[in-house]
Amino acid sequence: LEFDAKSYPVTSWSTPDGIVAPYAFITEAFCIIAETSARIGITNVLCNMLRVLMIHTPADLLPAVWLCSNAIAAPYKGIELGIGPLILSKSITSVAGTNGKTLKTLYEKYGDWGDVAFSAKVSVRTLLQPKPLTVRGVYSTLKSIANLKGQGTIDAKAALVKKLVLAARGEEVRFLVRTFVSHLRIGAVRTTVLSALAKACTLDISPFCSVEDGDSLAAQFYRQPYDDKATITMKMKRAESLMRECYAQHPNLDDIVPAILQGLSHLKEHCPLTVGVPLRPMLGKITRDLSEVFVKLEGRSFACEYKYDGQRAQIHLDKQGKAKIFSRHLEDMTDKYPDVVAILPQICKSENQSFIIDAEIVAIDNNGNIQPFSTLSNRARKNVAIEDITINVCILAFDIMLLNDEPVLWESFRNRRQLLRDHFTPIKDRYDLVKSMDTVASQENQDGAPETTSELKAPNVANSVEYQDEVSEFFKQSIKDGCEGIMVKVLDHASGYSGNQLDPITANKTEMKQTRVNQLLASYEPDKRMESWLKVKKDYVEGVSDSLDLVPIGAWWGNGRKVGWYSPILLACYNPENETYESVCKCISGFSDKFYKDMLEFYSVENGRVLDAPRHDYITDHRPDVWFQSCEVWEIKGADITVSPIHKGAIGHIDEARGLSLRFPRFIRKRDDKDVEDATCSETLAEMYTKQTNLHGSSNTEANTG
Ligand code: ATP
Repeated sequence: LEFDAKSYPVTSWSTPDGIVAPYAFITEAFCIIAETSARIGITNVLCNMLRVLMIHTPADLLPAVWLCSNAIAAPYKGIELGIGPLILSKSITSVAGTNGKTLKTLYEKYGDWGDVAFSAKVSVRTLLQPKPLTVRGVYSTLKSIANLKGQGTIDAKAALVKKLVLAARGEEVRFLVRTFVSHLRIGAVRTTVLSALAKACTLDISPFCSVEDGDSLAAQFYRQPYDDKATITMKMKRAESLMRECYAQHPNLDDIVPAILQGLSHLKEHCPLTVGVPLRPMLGKITRDLSEVFVKLEGRSFACEYKYDGQRAQIHLDKQGKAKIFSRHLEDMTDKYPDVVAILPQICKSENQSFIIDAEIVAIDNNGNIQPFSTLSNRARKNVAIEDITINVCILAFDIMLLNDEPVLWESFRNRRQLLRDHFTPIKDRYDLVKSMDTVASQENQDGAPETTSELKAPNVANSVEYQDEVSEFFKQSIKDGCEGIMVKVLDHASGYSGNQLDPITANKTEMKQTRVNQLLASYEPDKRMESWLKVKKDYVEGVSDSLDLVPIGAWWGNGRKVGWYSPILLACYNPENETYESVCKCISGFSDKFYKDMLEFYSVENGRVLDAPRHDYITDHRPDVWFQSCEVWEIKGADITVSPIHKGAIGHIDEARGLSLRFPRFIRKRDDKDVEDATCSETLAEMYTKQTNLHGSSNTEANTG
């Protein structure tokens, strides 16, 4: 383990307030991590750092975990730092005694605010050195910064930022400033932090404390100091799987970290699926076309549902009637839908019913006809007053995760859907179930799955393999009715299945994945893209690959009619492994003139969305005239995906030196419901390329730049 926690003189951390971890302790770990590329190495360093805090200063564990996570609160809390380039340059110039011009030159050189601040401050000598920063001090100041509202906020924020930067020493400056812009650059993505935390709870603590401390704390932290290697490995796997499962159902570190300080065994009990806390949504796997569905789901009964083109909404109602609506990205959007909130008590069949349901909210016209997503996107995002609503919406429910405070995630989809039918009342043009049809696997293929009861059978019942025409008709009708295509969902658990049988301890990652694919459980799997949910979009049927969700990272200045506008625009996919943006295409079509004009306002130097230089994490051989801050996701459709000498999408997946690019890209719409980290990831892009290559029997190589 590269990070030798023993060498940290914890005794020198004593203060009048007890033992307090210095901020330098975690930045030291960050420095080592920044030099480490292997995920396992990064996890180990983080794990060791967290172990020391767990033992010596447990009060610093939560602040440290947040500081490793590029966030200060769960997304649904809506707490954001709001530190932009203006505040940063004000504070850095003032601390370093430099000017904006020098800062600009430094930014052009480094493309990273942390490096800029480090370089600007490195030679500054302070006569009176402020007290060293502490982990909890930095975190609480960040929270104070986020809480500042109203007039004078910029100056007040700048003053606090300046105070922190002034007190920061050496490498602390670099990581502090990276934290301000929520980009630590240490490759410690969410899953890594969770794994490190889980391992830290499991490992023997004796190297870090005296035997007596070790014994008492070992009991407290659910550890056996004398476990052999195999037992430790098994416990670590169990802990990681438990941590992921809990986080997927209750993604708030403010609850998780205090719970694990009481022992991992308390985690589930303290962080259950809770009304008011959004769980991470289950997601569907892309398919090439309907034939792939039939191959994958042969012998299984499945439901086909319209895939509506609206906004995903996780709707919560507690027993007291308090409602919350969360986006796909777990942001609180209750304020956007007061009309949805108002209808919820009316859809419940019983008094004091509590629930969490998954639904698509779609815009409808006065006749109840479904409107395209663009209509819905005209609704204001915040503080919508019910009397001002001009765009009406209908809730189309497709799943339920909790009913009357009882989680129902492990019920089969057929049972969950039945709960929706039994406990909720449709209200015309306001609330209904998604339109669906069921297929029934023939008995010999059914493999023991429960028989469908007659009342569950849709009029259009088809055998999943033999009656493909019905499914195909349903699919075509979904497109005619203005949907994106269909979702295909396995109805019943695989044969012999009764509850959560997977053993995360004995199975390795690949085995687990494989088991799930083979068993095709019909449970609701938070935070997973599952084969038991397949999506078939109209794009596939048109013979074109799925659309991609890409991030604009730069643009050239347009010519001819487009002089003065951004055109073309350079778009990238996201690589979560390296936290980089890899360019995929230059897009010139699908935009309206208004869109171009709005873009000039959206991407401007003044609002900090135009950068002086490419960011260190933009991977491309292109050199656009203007670089953008990565801040939004656009849905883009193209003809096909090719191997490219210039673009870097999914580089290393298909070809060591070359990336993938999308040919003839066309803008479809903005995906406001997706964060930049939800953009199409490199792995998915590579999968799409492979699927397309399998389909056409040969690979394409782009002759020139796309
Ligand atoms: P996409 O970009 O295709 O919308 P996604 O990554 O947001 O996909 P997926 O789970 O892969 O999410 O695709 C399903 C999406 O389609 C959901 O997020 C939801 O918003 C929407 N949707 C519409 N109708 C349904 C339905 N009947 N069942 C599930 N999801 C549906």
